[in-house]
Amino acid sequence: MRILAIGAHPDDVEINCGGTLLKYRDAGHEVFLVLTTSGNIGSNTLGSREEIANTRESEQLEAAKLYPADVKFLRYDDQYLVDTPETRATIAEAIRWANPSVIFTHDPVDMSADHYMTAILVIRVMQTLTGVNVPSEYSPVQSKPSLFHWDTPAGHHFKPEAYVDITEVVEKKLEAVSRHRSQNAWLSQFQTYSLVDRCRIQSQFRGLQNGSDYAEAFRAYRNHGFMPRLSDLP
Ligand SMILES: [Zn+2]
Repeated sequence: MRILAIGAHPDDVEINCGGTLLKYRDAGHEVFLVLTTSGNIGSNTLGSREEIANTRESEQLEAAKLYPADVKFLRYDDQYLVDTPETRATIAEAIRWANPSVIFTHDPVDMSADHYMTAILVIRVMQTLTGVNVPSEYSPVQSKPSLFHWDTPAGHHFKPEAYVDITEVVEKKLEAVSRHRSQNAWLSQFQTYSLVDRCRIQSQFRGLQNGSDYAEAFRAYRNHGFMPRLSDLP
């Protein structure tokens, strides 16, 4: 299968579904990543917005080597992603580029502005993906993909309905998270836990719910004609 993860910022994919993507990799599936912003205000120490974006994109590419994944950067401004005909079309094109059977992205209950808007944009374009009359550089997605929403930061507002046991790949997942070196350094300045520790704790908590050592949690998107195949999860 072709698996697509769509994150708002470099690091979101690894934090929320890195273990699941590693399991897909181990089962021989292809992984693709799309980033709606390059997190270009996600540091107070790195300098200009351009410098931050360049640093974070190169860290994302380093993390993506672990899957390994093709990566597409859409480069909207951090914290200013909005729902317009243009952003919808760009997201739809990025999904058609990957032609996925399974899509992962944020959940609309996520209160981070870009996380929320990324989730909304993906939901808004789902019904256009297979349309032959939608203007596009790419062919329609071959079959209706399953869409899964991943966990929120610290799990706020998120009610899981499916889990992936990531025990066997958790150390690799944490290595992927640690490759976002600038975010690890910056967040450690003001958060109680390091980014890597935060991921370990949340994976352990979802594992506690799931009856495994470590897990990632998901909810499925449902719409008429777009029902998820839970058996697509690894
Ligand atoms: Zn984020």
